Amino acid sequence: MPAIFQQGALGVAMDEFSAIAQLTRQADFQSLCEATVAAVGVMLGSAEVELVEAFDVTENTLSGHSRKWSLRRMVNGQELESFDWLPEALVFSRTEVSLPAPMHASGVQVFCLGELAGMNRFLVAKGHFDPALLGGVNRVVTIFAHLLNLMDRFERDPLTDLLNRQSFDYRFEQLLERCQRNPHRARVDSSPWLAVADIDHFKRINDNFGHPQGDEVLLHFSRLLRESFRTEDLLFRYGGEEFVIILNNTDSAGALHALERFRQRVSEYSFPMVGQVTVSIGWDSFGAQVLPCDLMHRADRALYLAKRQGRNRLVRYAPALEDAPAFPTAQS
Ligand code: GH3
Ligand code: MG
Ligand code: MG
Repeated sequence: MPAIFQQGALGVAMDEFSAIAQLTRQADFQSLCEATVAAVGVMLGSAEVELVEAFDVTENTLSGHSRKWSLRRMVNGQELESFDWLPEALVFSRTEVSLPAPMHASGVQVFCLGELAGMNRFLVAKGHFDPALLGGVNRVVTIFAHLLNLMDRFERDPLTDLLNRQSFDYRFEQLLERCQRNPHRARVDSSPWLAVADIDHFKRINDNFGHPQGDEVLLHFSRLLRESFRTEDLLFRYGGEEFVIILNNTDSAGALHALERFRQRVSEYSFPMVGQVTVSIGWDSFGAQVLPCDLMHRADRALYLAKRQGRNRLVRYAPALEDAPAFPTAQS
């Protein structure tokens, strides 16, 4: 627990105002989450508090709509195995997650933070605490939810509503750090995957149909991205017509399948006025030993080869690609 959240010299537990002051001091999504978990823990006495994220992973099948959820437990920025009891105990509705009343009696209190960009978040506090404290904690949690919403808006690209380049930089470093702390995940072929997707001949679209129509293509392309990947994957607009996809919780065959399905979907989609648009994709895994700049470089090299081989294709990085000449991307 950070020193700022320890009880003061007089032994006075953190009050609502100091908790709120701590929250409003945080400058990014991750540290805001950590500060809230710590503040709620102190406000409730010695409760164990965790942030749980629930992603809707319902497959859109013709047969039925029973909802499926994937849960992620975050403690001090680290992801832990989900509790065994949690999936059964949770009651999900379309927009929020809650626990049935009997769980509260057994020393667990859940604070729902609501839904943000397709993900439900909630805080789980375990321990025996004074119910009189819950009102104050609820108010702090409500402010936390509003701050998360505000930060989420800063992290998104205004045209496409995908995550922007700035949020990519820090989220990418965090993910790499997490992989390095949990190298076993890389070994079992379930480390995240990084893909750079670049629309083919986009300049021609602008030249032939005008810049506003180019923007319209970017909007349709982003919608296809959102519909093609799971909510637990991260989608960024990295630059003009260049997008980054981080795939989570899948092996290499699953990543290849998802990326190939997306490529095909784009090439079969009829973009209004413009018609067919294609995309080239370079991709690689997050190895435990890779630096952020190296991993982007690898995906860029693979993308370069995809372009050279005729576009509208996927290429996974291999060390042999280093021999190819340098590629002038939109960012260089
Ligand atoms: P390649 O297949 O090699 O990727 O060719 P390309 O034409 O897609 O690549 P290039 O990098 O030459 O051109 C990218 C173009 O994207 C140039 C730029 O004007 C355009 N662009 C960048 N941002 C935006 C935007 O926000 N809206 C629109 N309409 N165009 C954009
Ligand atoms: Mg392009
Ligand atoms: Mg480009």
